[in-house]
Amino acid sequence: STIESPKNEKILTIDFDQIGGQETAKKELLEALEFVVNKDLVKKLGIRPLKGIILQGPPGTGKTLLAKAAAKYTNSAFIATSGSEFVEMYAGVGAKRVRKLFADAKRLALKEKKNSAVIFIDEIDVLGVKRGSNSSHMEYDQTLNQLLVEMDGLKSSDIQILVMAATNRLDLLDDALLRPGRFDRIVNIPLPSKWGRLEILRIHTKNKPLGDDVDLEKVAAQTFGFSGAHLENVTNEAAILALRNNRLTITQQDFLNAIEKVIMGEKIDRVPTK
Ligand code: ATP
Repeated sequence: STIESPKNEKILTIDFDQIGGQETAKKELLEALEFVVNKDLVKKLGIRPLKGIILQGPPGTGKTLLAKAAAKYTNSAFIATSGSEFVEMYAGVGAKRVRKLFADAKRLALKEKKNSAVIFIDEIDVLGVKRGSNSSHMEYDQTLNQLLVEMDGLKSSDIQILVMAATNRLDLLDDALLRPGRFDRIVNIPLPSKWGRLEILRIHTKNKPLGDDVDLEKVAAQTFGFSGAHLENVTNEAAILALRNNRLTITQQDFLNAIEKVIMGEKIDRVPTK
């Protein structure tokens, strides 16, 4: 089942303050989440309930983290999957999995005694591509249709479900997904700014022994173009380099070497540094 898929095994709860940078995204997301938190007020005012949010941005920028934080903030059960898990050769399998995903989310919320659930779908573009643009893949259309049916059907049920979907190609998505009452919020999650990078570096070195010469601001300045995932990688590599040299503290040189290592491994585009 989706609940037991490997991706969900290490569901750690996460707060917004454990996510570095992304000030605008966090603000927009929190505004949107008030609709989930103040469900009764929203109902009284006759506001259409919020059903879907799209997180748009490059890989490794914290989209999954933000979805997890959103679940915690709204006291919702959390269930994660990826668009690629719905792509099957056999007709109807994808649609069936979509149905099961929503059923699983409701079941999980009941089990955890929560009134709401957040469903996170990574790589939504895989199943939400413009219909007809892929005429040999009628299967995608069925899967996408089922997703729309499930989202449109989210009304009377006691358990409120919010679908958060991530993509780095918003332009590929079928317009039907972006219609009111479906994914009608789009939050941009860009690569972090220098200050965002500094915050992310601080978060990921919180429990690491740093030498006196370590200047994380310099590290932030030298990592233009890095995503949060790249930066986490840098802090980990720096610690490994210290270990290899039998040191119990990480030095600035370890960070510099780690940056080079990550650049070599990831082919990061380092256009003008600012
Ligand atoms: P993908 O689209 O590739 O799935 P994503 O945007 O969902 O990427 P996450 O899975 O949220 O990225 O991030 C991967 C890892 O990178 C996180 O577990 C975390 O260690 C680190 N990370 C990314 N962004 C941030 C951030 N803003 N603050 C702190 N850590 C971050």
